Amino acid sequence: MIHRARPVLSAVARFMLAVVLVGTVLGVVSGSARADNPITVSGSTTASEFPQALVFRLSATDSAADITKIELRFKQRGDASTEIAKPEFVPGRQVEATYRWKTDKTQVPPGAAVEFYWIVSDAAGNTLTTETQTVFYDDLRFPWKQRRNDDIAFYWYKGSDDFGDYVFNVATSALGRISTDIGAQVEYPIRIYAYANQDDFRSAFPSLGGTRLWIGGQAFPDLAITVQILPDAGDDTDWIHDVIPHEISHLVFYQATHHPPADPPRWLDEGLAQYNEESDQWYAIALVEDAAENGTLFSLKVLSGSFFNDPDKTRLAYAESYHAVGYIFDTYGREGMARLIAAFGAGKTRDAAFQEALGLSLDDFDQQWQRSLGVTPATALPSPTPLPTEDRPWLNPTAPPWAKKTPGGPEATAITPTTPGTPVVQVQTPPPVAPTGTPVPGNDTPVWLTVVGGTFCCASAVLAVAFLVGLVWLVRR
Ligand SMILES: [Zn+2]
Repeated sequence: MIHRARPVLSAVARFMLAVVLVGTVLGVVSGSARADNPITVSGSTTASEFPQALVFRLSATDSAADITKIELRFKQRGDASTEIAKPEFVPGRQVEATYRWKTDKTQVPPGAAVEFYWIVSDAAGNTLTTETQTVFYDDLRFPWKQRRNDDIAFYWYKGSDDFGDYVFNVATSALGRISTDIGAQVEYPIRIYAYANQDDFRSAFPSLGGTRLWIGGQAFPDLAITVQILPDAGDDTDWIHDVIPHEISHLVFYQATHHPPADPPRWLDEGLAQYNEESDQWYAIALVEDAAENGTLFSLKVLSGSFFNDPDKTRLAYAESYHAVGYIFDTYGREGMARLIAAFGAGKTRDAAFQEALGLSLDDFDQQWQRSLGVTPATALPSPTPLPTEDRPWLNPTAPPWAKKTPGGPEATAITPTTPGTPVVQVQTPPPVAPTGTPVPGNDTPVWLTVVGGTFCCASAVLAVAFLVGLVWLVRR
């Protein structure tokens, strides 16, 4: 959805409250659904025990009969479905109900917005439904500092104020850049949480257990949140200039285009994210041109859905995504890209969006882009990989160089599945296959991977690897 005339005051208000009222509840409990309703709610509170649980408490009285049934209904913002929970309470005229939403087996990020309301019923047939409240599930274990404006906030707890200012400035610049490039604003303010080290980060996601030790970050586009291992590394800021703009691009893209039945191709999302990075990506160009010359170029149709598990193919997929997005900007300008994003934001399908924005079908655009590289497109393009259909298909772990590596690459042990009865807040996908032999050019150089829907995403790492491959290629030429 494009928000050119977004409800600024509403967004600002939500955001201000979000950052000020840490761990508190927003919203007002309605005293009574009707004036003659004997049920009265005297209190509805929450307590954050992040990352173990979010505790909901309700106090209610009934002047006519015993309260015999209480339901808590809640969901994370962005969830398609609402969970129905049965809190513990003793029936009576005056009740105290408690429900612990256990989050240790799921992936709920710090700062997740959780919307909830209660339905209280008594033995005489009266029912009261409270107004929807919003609580931000904050990680109260750390003394977070923050830099924020109306659209973006950066939270950190270890490191200097200068570090916070620096990251915040990189973030605001990146947000301005991507907003200008695609002609879209954020509806929900973006929140970036920086854990100072791997132990702290992993403690926020206990469901990881001892697995996936390479993960160094996770994006939650539908919650407008990205959580990263981002230590204050002094003058070593290259990582910041890539990971922050890349993640922000994904979050903005999601907000701008998540309007079913729109299904923007994966290469467009990834390409824009790389386009928003600040490091020189000449090696991506070299990789694509080499593939075009060798006849190994993938059509964009192949890159519409999930990417590959094969590391070489994955590197090329990211490089092509970047190249194709650059081609749109070069050929159709920012206006063309803005029209394309707006078309997806209006719920257009891929072909309809490309036709409306650029004046040609996606297949025709695909072939036009391939011809620009000197490639004669195949007449029959392979079928694209189906898009994931989960409610929350995005899983974006990133793997910076300081993440512990196991011999031979990342661990591939699945995250402990959600236990029965625990609200499912994020669909788990199979763990990615490790890119074998991923070179890490020194401990200070940012190399990272993100996984979306179970395949590699976020190309700094991929392209850094491609950079080395490109160097070898150039030397050999
Ligand atoms: Zn990415």
